[in-house]
Amino acid sequence: MSIDEQVSSYYNMLLKRNAGEPEFHQAVAEVLASLKIVLEKDPHYADYGLIQRLCEPERQLIFRVPWIDDNGVVQVNRGFRVQFNSALGPYKGGLRFHPSVNLGIIKFLGFEQIFKNSLTGLPIGGGKGGSDFDPKGKSELEIMRFCQSFMTELHKHIGEYKDVPAGDIGVGAREIGFLFGQYRRLAGQHESGVLTGKGLTWGGSLVRTEATGYGCVYLTEEMMKAHGASMSGAKVIVSGSGNVAIYAIEKAQELGATVVGFSDSSGWVSTPDGVDVELLKDVKDKRRERVTAYVEESTGATFHEDGSIWDLAADVALPCATQNELNGDHARALAANGVRFVAEGANMPSTPEAIEVFRENGIHFAPGKAANAGGVATSALEMQQNASRDSWSFEYTDQRLHKIMSKIFRTMSNTAKEYGREGDYVVGSNIAGFKKTADAMLAQGVI
Ligand code: NDP
Repeated sequence: MSIDEQVSSYYNMLLKRNAGEPEFHQAVAEVLASLKIVLEKDPHYADYGLIQRLCEPERQLIFRVPWIDDNGVVQVNRGFRVQFNSALGPYKGGLRFHPSVNLGIIKFLGFEQIFKNSLTGLPIGGGKGGSDFDPKGKSELEIMRFCQSFMTELHKHIGEYKDVPAGDIGVGAREIGFLFGQYRRLAGQHESGVLTGKGLTWGGSLVRTEATGYGCVYLTEEMMKAHGASMSGAKVIVSGSGNVAIYAIEKAQELGATVVGFSDSSGWVSTPDGVDVELLKDVKDKRRERVTAYVEESTGATFHEDGSIWDLAADVALPCATQNELNGDHARALAANGVRFVAEGANMPSTPEAIEVFRENGIHFAPGKAANAGGVATSALEMQQNASRDSWSFEYTDQRLHKIMSKIFRTMSNTAKEYGREGDYVVGSNIAGFKKTADAMLAQGVI
């Protein structure tokens, strides 16, 4: 069988076995396309069922999460934890609370996480979890009761050396607090290494809050430098206004860029003179309001429900909200409006068609598994601090993050070159992330 036929046969098997999970299919298809290039050169990576094992999670947990709302009514949600691959270290990956969550979405995120975590160079495997619970409109006590019920089941399956969850969409510092509290109560001891994203007084790390957004901008700056450009003076579009978006905006502006727009699920905001980051943090982070509140309290910003944030003219686009938020038409609009660089703060925000449009138009594109790896990298630094009962300064931790992001850029860039695809960072990051995990899996035998 040719390599093409082999890979198609794995993929067809995967489609049959994982029916109705389009996001998972999309994530696997993208990686398999890059792996064909590896298998041509190093066919031994197809030995011992390696590719089939890589695409099959080691363990998938689905559980009931019953909780009582403020009216005394029992609500039932579904909880997930997919422990995808632990060849490099304990499963590591966030928890997402959003009504769209289902098994396929958690599997796509867990699969991506394997390669992302491998790229950080730190000893962490890949996993992901979450629930279809919608935190929007819930009281603080409802959120607490939900988190306690979720952790009552999850605690049986996680641990410092086993599986270390963190935050993601809908899971920030508040939720990690409630989850950790319940874990501590059930375990009967304070095991700080079991979750990351913790508060600073109880085992958290400085820079973890900022890490994904800052890291995305550090990597984008490296990519821009490699192509003779710089953040300083650039116009940047950032979608979303959650954790990743806010700190991407903050770092981009610190480096001299003007962020000309951001969004949330209610619409998008045009900010031709830049973003008032403190106001945005106050509106979204503290008061948990919609972006319209930002527009009402700022000068020069306008709110739009119609059209798309991707219609703005800019040099750089950083999609930082959610999967498949940037499609082929959006990508064509970006190209027509002069965007030269795209880096994914979110996981898989660009559709396959959008990525193709970037390629056709010479737009330099850094995929999420590289561009947003700063969050999980800093989580691994939090684990290091917990293990050594230490806490590092902001400057030191930020320097470590910066170095990791620069190294990820060099690794994906050099790997793309090595495989004859210079400048193709999708191929570079997929292959580099794959090889390290695959070497560990081959060394550890068929398990
Ligand atoms: P948050 O919950 O803090 O923010 C998510 C943002 O995206 C909000 O502005 C939200 O708007 C918007 N959003 C979410 N879903 C949709 C949707 N279906 N349509 C339009 N807008 C939407 O999440 P994070 O910032 O933590 O995560 C953002 C992305 O980054 C995700 O893809 C996540 O997987 C990825 N990521 C996060 C990491 C982290 O450290 N937090 C690490 C690596 C990747 P609204 O407020 O209206 O819901």
